[in-house]
Amino acid sequence: MLPSVDEVIGDKRIIDILSKFPRSLVLESIRQVIGLKRSEISNLSNDNEKVDMSFDTIVEDCINKSKISYSLSLKKVINATGTVVHTNLGRSLLSESIKDELWSSASRYSNLEYNLEEGERGSRYTHLTETIKRLTKAEDVLVVNNNAAAVLLVLNTLAKEKEAIVSRGELVEVGGSFRIPSIMELSGAKLVEVGATNKTHLKDYENAISEETKVLMKVHTSNYRILGFTENIEIKELSVLGKKYNIPVIEDLGSGIFVDLSKYGLSYEPTVLDSINQGADIVTFSGDKMLGGPQAGIIVGKKEYIQKMKKNQLTRALRVDKLTICALEATLRMYLDEEKAIKEIPTLRMLTYKIEELEEKANNLLNKIKILNLSANINIEDGFSQVGGGSMPLETIKTKVIAITPNNMNVSKLEQKLRLSESHIVARVYDNKYVLDVRTIFEDEYDDIVNELEKAFK
Ligand SMILES: *Cc1c(COP(=O)(O)O)cnc(C)c1O
Repeated sequence: MLPSVDEVIGDKRIIDILSKFPRSLVLESIRQVIGLKRSEISNLSNDNEKVDMSFDTIVEDCINKSKISYSLSLKKVINATGTVVHTNLGRSLLSESIKDELWSSASRYSNLEYNLEEGERGSRYTHLTETIKRLTKAEDVLVVNNNAAAVLLVLNTLAKEKEAIVSRGELVEVGGSFRIPSIMELSGAKLVEVGATNKTHLKDYENAISEETKVLMKVHTSNYRILGFTENIEIKELSVLGKKYNIPVIEDLGSGIFVDLSKYGLSYEPTVLDSINQGADIVTFSGDKMLGGPQAGIIVGKKEYIQKMKKNQLTRALRVDKLTICALEATLRMYLDEEKAIKEIPTLRMLTYKIEELEEKANNLLNKIKILNLSANINIEDGFSQVGGGSMPLETIKTKVIAITPNNMNVSKLEQKLRLSESHIVARVYDNKYVLDVRTIFEDEYDDIVNELEKAFK
């Protein structure tokens, strides 16, 4: 016979978990478990089948169900895909070294909008100004919720009900939902497209300039490339044109970087400083792409334009919270020492691993897996990682992977088991192999991977 809800809730083990989980949730779990058992019993088709009705099993099921119901929907996962700025898996990771400062700003009062020197009201936007000015040599700075918001705010402030000129080759869609033409429409600016998809000349921009033109815009097409017979106007030439007609030139860099990563074997991408030096009046970029900080949209450039943006009511709706300000300032501070930045900002660290370092990481993981004696073919192989986040689309970075082909299990079944396991391992499958790219796996996650593999092969 099945126990009653009252019998289960009176059990010592259940009473114990009531200190951790809300009573209503535990009750719901008990009712569900008993209900499930009841329907299993009524679905029995013959006398040989049995349902496990033991009291201990029911209590255990109730505890597990309560745990699952109370766990957060947003869970830690292990990224074994090798894609560093993985948009689906949370993009950038913050550096461990800033956790005390981050927790302090979250759990204690701060001078968020208070000027300590004067003892009066201050502005949340002042905290990032000095560091960003130092890094970019820009006159002024404004930080908003994300780069989409930054572009929206810039266009709304400078070109509402007026015209903004953009090259046809740069009308991109990024991240599945950000489209330059749609953002333009939302901002109230009128999009004036110039040139052809593969070719835009300076005179195309110049011919389109009218009394109504308030912005010349360049979009860094970070997630696709037009190859072959192409021509694009560089920000330098566009800036000369902007000065001639006294129209601000804005560049949406997408993934903002402060370090020229070509020094570390990646392709050249313009840095924020390059863009400013070449004459852009306003530059916008993301905080959580290759920069490696929290989600944010950073606007740098000429003071006269940024002052206008600060007064725009839209800024209030797009404003960043204190956790973002804290994480961003602490991340940007690391860039003042490039070596420290490369070492301590996870995104940069992962992008700049030497192949020997990856080989060593792969060997360490393989040695731990080998002890399990799994019924599978397991090897270290060469592979390719990606930057991700729509950055450097053609860049494939050499990496080392652990490739696993189970002897008695479908490889997609293995993938599913590990994805749904408590450690939530997300990896790729190809060529009938389950592939773990060590680039994006932390060494302190190795034991979890080994444990989950052992369970999956049982
Ligand atoms: C990614 C990207 C954006 C959007 O940035 P979010 O920070 O994701 O809002 C805008 N423009 C370009 C060129 C991008 O690459």
